[in-house]
Amino acid sequence: QAKSAGRNAVRFYDPLTRAVLNARNQLEQGLHLALARQQLQLYYQVQVNQDHQSIGAEALLRWIHPEMGVISPLQFIPVAEESGLIVPIGYWVLQTACAQLKQWESNALTRDLVLSVNVSVRQLRETMFVWQVKELLEQSGINPAHLKLEITESMIADNVDSTISTMSQLKSLGVKFSMDDFGTGYSSLSNIKRLPLDQLKIDQSFVRGILHDEFDRAIVRTIIAMASSLDLDIIAEGVEVEEQRHLLARKGCTNYQGYLFGKPLPLAEFEQLLRAR
Ligand code: C2E
Ligand code: MG
Ligand code: MG
Ligand code: MG
Repeated sequence: QAKSAGRNAVRFYDPLTRAVLNARNQLEQGLHLALARQQLQLYYQVQVNQDHQSIGAEALLRWIHPEMGVISPLQFIPVAEESGLIVPIGYWVLQTACAQLKQWESNALTRDLVLSVNVSVRQLRETMFVWQVKELLEQSGINPAHLKLEITESMIADNVDSTISTMSQLKSLGVKFSMDDFGTGYSSLSNIKRLPLDQLKIDQSFVRGILHDEFDRAIVRTIIAMASSLDLDIIAEGVEVEEQRHLLARKGCTNYQGYLFGKPLPLAEFEQLLRAR
């Protein structure tokens, strides 16, 4: 290790590693400023039910960089998580989501929408998290059942009991929980059963293969059966073509999200899509 060796280890890195580290540092510094400079924005992707009705949306974060344009969360969320910046960023996301729900609740077109928000493990482990969500719900006065928190299986891997405890406190506030990217993690069935979940979200990798891959089809069938026997809602993400939706519907999947229905859109365009649907 560089530090224990007591010398400047940077000069021993090869040029590629150094370039990667530099880029990462720049990204992290830029992300710091992005919050203050209001360069973060929520996009909204519609979720629909069997009857093609719009039932909700997923809030997806975008960094609108003055020079680089729209930056994907796939690029900056990992950096935000490692640096801890995900905590203030995640708080901003929740705050913005609650403010949006408040507006939606006063409009006939949008008043029943449920908004799903991605929450990272770093946020969930913050001692203030439950209290913060409670404050945001009280300040906005929204129906807590309109807020759905998306968590991933990796969150429960190390610390099941504390995760269950935090989730249960949030559940008692009235918020909903969805297990995102379901099927890609390694959580045991008994853990899944113990979590106070409302929904399983079938990962898009399985949806992508469902038309040609027998294995993906079997996994999807198993997830739907599991949701049904645990009495959980089910939604598929990454639905791009009608054939996928049709096959999912035949297997008993009742809710869908994907480019077939709409891409993640800035607020004005999302509301336009809702009116058009
Ligand atoms: P996710 O929560 O699994 O979100 C689904 C991703 O799939 C989104 O990517 C969405 O744009 C994309 N997607 C939706 N429909 C389709 C489709 O039909 N085809 C394809 N190919 N892709 C589709 P996005 O917006 O780039 O977000 C990537 C990930 O970043 C999210 O995956 C989530 O894990 C994370 N993320 C996004 N916003 C937040 C946030 O506010 N907080 C945290 N902690 N993570 C976030
Ligand atoms: Mg998600
Ligand atoms: Mg997902
Ligand atoms: Mg995903």
